[in-house]
This record gives sequence, C-alpha cells and structure tokens, in this order.
Amino acid sequence: MKLAVAKEIEMGENRVALIPDTVARLVKQGIEVWVEAGAGERAFFADEAYTAAGAKIISDPYTLWGEADILVKVSPPQEREGRHEADMLREGAVLVGFTNPLGNPALAQRLAQRHITTLSMELIPRTTRAQSMDALSSQASVAGYQAALIAAAAAPKFFPMLTTAAGTIAPAKVFIIGAGVAGLQAIATARRLGAVVEAFDIRPAVKEEVQSLGAKFVEVKLDEETVAEGGYAKEISEVAKQKTQETIAEHVKMSDVVITTAQVPGKKAPLLVTEEMVAQMKPGSVIVDMAAEQGGNCACTQPGKDVRYNGVTIIGSINLPSSTPIHSSQMYAKNILTLLQYMINKEGELMLNFEDDIVKNTCVTHAGEIRNQKVQEALD
Ligand code: NAD
Repeated sequence: MKLAVAKEIEMGENRVALIPDTVARLVKQGIEVWVEAGAGERAFFADEAYTAAGAKIISDPYTLWGEADILVKVSPPQEREGRHEADMLREGAVLVGFTNPLGNPALAQRLAQRHITTLSMELIPRTTRAQSMDALSSQASVAGYQAALIAAAAAPKFFPMLTTAAGTIAPAKVFIIGAGVAGLQAIATARRLGAVVEAFDIRPAVKEEVQSLGAKFVEVKLDEETVAEGGYAKEISEVAKQKTQETIAEHVKMSDVVITTAQVPGKKAPLLVTEEMVAQMKPGSVIVDMAAEQGGNCACTQPGKDVRYNGVTIIGSINLPSSTPIHSSQMYAKNILTLLQYMINKEGELMLNFEDDIVKNTCVTHAGEIRNQKVQEALD
C-alpha cells in the first residue's frame, strides 16, 4: 500500500500532515510512504529527514497524487496549476485531511463523484476513545496559545505585574470569551505571562476548568439548556443572547485584551462583541478574534486583517496553528497516525468498518456516495 504525504499549497499553510518520526513508524509497519518534495520544508522537516525515516521523495505531484492509495494532507484539496487536486487522485483512493465538509459540501460532492473515500479530520468524534485522533482539539490548542501571544505582542502594555525602580506596573486584564479547547489554552498562556484573566462561556461545565487555570469564571445564569449533543454549545435564544451581552459588555469595557473563541458547530460564529462595546474600550486595547474565519465574534473583525477602531486594535486571526508549524505538524501527524493505525490491519490493508463510530463519523464520501447526512443536507 502506498501512502502519500502531499505538499500543502494553500497560501500561508506551513504545516505538513506527517513528520519524519511518524513516517518511520508507518514504514516499520510495512507501509510504503511517498513524500512530495519539499512537503515538510515550511515546518522545518527536510526531505533528507523523510528519506532517513524510510520514505521515498517524489518530485512530480501528479505521480504522487495519481498513484497514492492513501493521501494525507492538512488543508482541503484545491486548484493547482489549472487542475483541481481532487481530480488528481485515482478513483478508489483514500484522502485523509481537513476537508471542511460542512463549509464546502461541493468539494465532498466532487470527491464522491470521483469515487474517492474521504476521511475528514474535522469529523473525528470528540470522544475519549478518539481523543488521540482529535485534530480539532490538537490544532485548537496551538491556536489558543498563539492567540494569547499575538495579543501580548500587540498590547501596548505588559501582561505581568512588575515592581521596578521606575515604579509598579499593574498586570494586564485579559478577558477570554469561549472556554473550549482554544480558550482554555489561551487562558493558560495569558496566565503564564502574568495577566489577570477572566473567562466566559455559555457552558457552565467549564467553570471548574477555568478556575483550575487560575482565571475567574464570569457567570451568567441562563434559564435554558446551553449544551448540545457531544458537549458542544447550542445556539441560544434571543433572551439569553441579550442577557449574556450585558455581562460581556461590562467585562469587555474593563479589559485591556479580549480574546474571542466562541463557536457553535455548523453555524456562523455568534456575534458577541458589538461595535458599541469596542467603542467603550480604552484606547490601546486589543481584541484577537479567533472566530474570524467563521464570521467573527466581534462586529469590527475583518478576517486576516488588523483593524483599528477608536484606538482599539482588532486582529482577525486566521490559521493560527500554521504559525507554530513544528508542533502543530507534530500533533496533527500523531492524530493522523493514530487514525491510520486504527484502520490498518496486520497485513497492512486499510479496513473501513462502517459499524465503528470513528469510521462512520469521519468517512464523508465512499463508493461514489456522500455518507454524511449533514453534508448531504448542506448540499440540498
Ligand atoms: P468550539 O470551538 O466549538 O467552541 C469554542 C467555545 O465557544 C466552546 O466552549 C463553546 O461553549 C463556546 N461558545 C459558543 N457559543 C458561545 C457564546 N454565545 N458565548 C460564549 N461562549 C460560547 O468548541 P471546542 O473547543 O472545539 O469544544 C467544545 C466541547 O467539545 C468541549 O468542551 C467538550 O465538551 C467537547 N470536546 C470533547 C473532547 C473529548 O471528550 N475528547 C475533546 C474536545 C472537545
């Protein structure tokens, strides 16, 4: 079986799907691994390191894509020199990577029509059993860390309290909205830098996690269920939105830095920080909006841009994991390796057991069909 590692061509994408260490493990299992020349370059993994791990370096992308039995990558297939990568795979091949199936169901349709089996890393179930394959969590964790660092670098103030001969500096006040995987890592990083941190989430269950990181949990008592299946947030009612906005407004106003991470799976990100709230912030304050690509949590956000509004800098961050490419690739590679090892039998063949919840959830297209109902509905 030939397993190919593609070079990412998406602008600003520095990650690679497998690193030399994980390649070595697959080679040891008897799998032939092909790596596109330069695939790991932007994550600082040289072709020579892949060769030493037992991989074959392939310079021609058409050979790599066209002959792979399984192709692993990070970002979704896209146009490449006038051809779409989805059309470069042979019929019956398996594609593993982030494919944005709910955001771009047309790609899933294209892959289904080409009889490609697609395993979408976004759809790995968020269960304990699949934890080591959970690429959304590994990458969100990197993103949360980066968001805190970006905020600290952009703030015209120190994060820690300093007692110096030139006077005492008060610590920065950081408010984090959304305490999921990314939010918790942002809290931990901001705390390590010495900031005073508060966090808000509509899921009350995160209170203890927030507190265990040394941050204060901002509570809003809502008279409705805010947690959906799988522990995710639910879209809340207009009354609940109004109530949370009042609390958010109070805390945004007092903060030097606001980091927003709030998302509801399959929906546009909730708008939580209004223009009016931004206008009430102190000049020099910073907002890092991690939901920028999903529409943004802040009304002033522009994805991929830094915006200045009344002296407040709003950073519409995109693809943050790409800016820590060694570790984000290492973690993603581990997620992919675990998924592959889970599905590959002793004889080195890929077995797709559709009775298994990990395979059933992750497999978006197979044998000419879209197998995921939500993706099918998004197309209709
Ligand atoms: P996410 O990226 O979908 O959302 C980020 C956070 O935003 C969430 O904590 C959510 O509650 C919050 N949010 C949504 N709407 C909001 C609003 N209006 N105001 C304030 N906050 C709002 O979430 P995620 O980080 O990918 O994961 C969320 C949950 O998924 C986890 O907490 C957990 O329950 C589950 N999960 C489970 C596992 C596992 O068991 N292996 C792993 C990862 C995640």
